[in-house]
Amino acid sequence: MGAIRSTTHAGARASARRGTSEFAELAKQIRDSGWLHRRYGYYWTKLIAAPLVLALGLIVFIWIGDTWWQLFTAAALAIVFTQIAFRGHDAAHRQIFVTGRWNDWISLILGDLLVGMSYGWWQRKHTRHHANPNKLGSDPDIELPVIAVTAETADRHLPPLLRSWQCA
Ligand SMILES: [Zn+2]
Repeated sequence: MGAIRSTTHAGARASARRGTSEFAELAKQIRDSGWLHRRYGYYWTKLIAAPLVLALGLIVFIWIGDTWWQLFTAAALAIVFTQIAFRGHDAAHRQIFVTGRWNDWISLILGDLLVGMSYGWWQRKHTRHHANPNKLGSDPDIELPVIAVTAETADRHLPPLLRSWQCA
């Protein structure tokens, strides 16, 4: 029994080593191809354009006033806010600049100042998301009040009248 167990452990270790070396080879190919190089031109363009486009959207919002045309302004600003939030996400992942200090400042400016979302709150939540991606009960990104990702969460969220309309 001991020999079988050690053979199994040895096989698992060999498999893990093979997986590690395959990952190391893939990671090297990705690094060598340049996909991980920082794209300063792309990010500086987005970082300079973000407040300008946001200011333009707010000027249009104020200029057209109380009208149903604000639906178009709302849709445009939703896209702008989402783009800004994505750049904040990139900075929070230390993708834009080399130093953490620069990335933190950009995350603060984009998240807190331009989007109105707390960088500190989001960072704690997002760290939990990456620690347990798509794991019910651990990933806060799938604990949404309006969208259900499983039948159980759908049952929890929906009022009884709507539950009967659900597909089984
Ligand atoms: Zn992320």
